[in-house]
Amino acid sequence: MSLTRYLPASAAVLLAGALLYPTPLGAWAHLGGELDLTQRDFRVYNNFSDAEANNNTVTDLSFPGATGAALAIWKAYVEWSSELHANGSGDPTQPFDLGSGGANFDPSWQGLATSPGDTNSNIASEISGFGAGVLGFTELPISDGWRIRFYADPVIWNDGPNPPPNAQDHRDLQGVACHEFGHALGLAHSTVLGSTMFPAISIDETTLRSISADDQLGIQALYGVASSSKPHIETYELSSTGEVVIHGHGFEPTGNTLWFTRSAGISDGTPVSVSHLSSSQGGTLISCPIPIDAGPGDVLVKLSGSSHADLSNPFPFDPNQQHCPDVISYGTAKTTSQLSVPQLYTESWPSAALNNFKFGTYGGMPNAFGIMFSGPTAQNRPFQGGTVLVGAPIRREQLFQFDFTGWIELSIPIDSSMIGSTRHYQLWFQDQGDAFGTGLSDAVQVGFCP
Ligand SMILES: [Zn+2]
Repeated sequence: MSLTRYLPASAAVLLAGALLYPTPLGAWAHLGGELDLTQRDFRVYNNFSDAEANNNTVTDLSFPGATGAALAIWKAYVEWSSELHANGSGDPTQPFDLGSGGANFDPSWQGLATSPGDTNSNIASEISGFGAGVLGFTELPISDGWRIRFYADPVIWNDGPNPPPNAQDHRDLQGVACHEFGHALGLAHSTVLGSTMFPAISIDETTLRSISADDQLGIQALYGVASSSKPHIETYELSSTGEVVIHGHGFEPTGNTLWFTRSAGISDGTPVSVSHLSSSQGGTLISCPIPIDAGPGDVLVKLSGSSHADLSNPFPFDPNQQHCPDVISYGTAKTTSQLSVPQLYTESWPSAALNNFKFGTYGGMPNAFGIMFSGPTAQNRPFQGGTVLVGAPIRREQLFQFDFTGWIELSIPIDSSMIGSTRHYQLWFQDQGDAFGTGLSDAVQVGFCP
């Protein structure tokens, strides 16, 4: 049996809610306020006392410099942003989906704080004491900031990324943080079961991590739908002369500002900001010397205005590490004789340091044998009723056998000699019901990074 605990925003907010929204008509409701571009920063005071709140020590290239409770809370907040956070990876419960909520609030991670701060310092932390049925709360001046507290007892906070154990008092920190941040953005509770702003969570539940259609509508009513003119960061490069080159689109000819995460130990919540930057190549490139006090975290582009459409997505940035190129899926898989479509998915980043990159498919032929092959380029050559998508010289990589459901997952070991190179991968396998007796997946282009 799963216990349910409730998640009020705060006593004051509940009272305001009672006055302003006597009869929730279903769905989302607002608290009566919103945050502007001066309140995008957030930090974590990592005083979480449960070992389970800080036992995830695996770093993630999408969240540079963070582990444990800080990493869980950072993942929770980017879920409310205007687009996928980098390639959307980082949460096994919503693969390649972090930030997919279609909301429009782009936050700026500003690292660890050294105290819980004031009610408008935009800091999340634990608070000692017994919640008596309440897991946490958000203090809300709203327009000039917020503070989020998670009760120390009786809850055992779990930082993930896997679901908490189904045991007494265990709760998912990332999911509850996602809920509380909804309050900080101006949302009251929703009556829609399954929404992130629904005020209850079960022991091992992680669904609050992913905002629902109802949450999206609520946030879009406050912050609008992401404008097509919004600046967008696609990736970055570090130059040999100490500059960062931001690639994207929608940058202004002049008057761009970059916001960086301040280095650990000196963060006060204010982004490190470099202003008056010109763009080139039609607003798709910005070069900027890396500020001395910029640390691992993220980078955003702010245009000269002050509307929600004047701030880009937050893009993971590490001043000491080139960004790993996104894996690109391309081509069309050949539909199998069982009418499945063997489309490749990928896991993690093609990084030599991580060396845990995998890809696979759910759409193969049960129990059939196959071969993964690769090449240096892409091509489009009709072959046995499908398409060979990998150019010559083609190299055999590894033999495999699908499991009884047609699933296969293959590791790509990455060593330092592969850094900087690009390869294209595809699967060819037996399909006895097919006219040619073979099947072909779609393909992925992979660029390897340090
Ligand atoms: Zn709540």
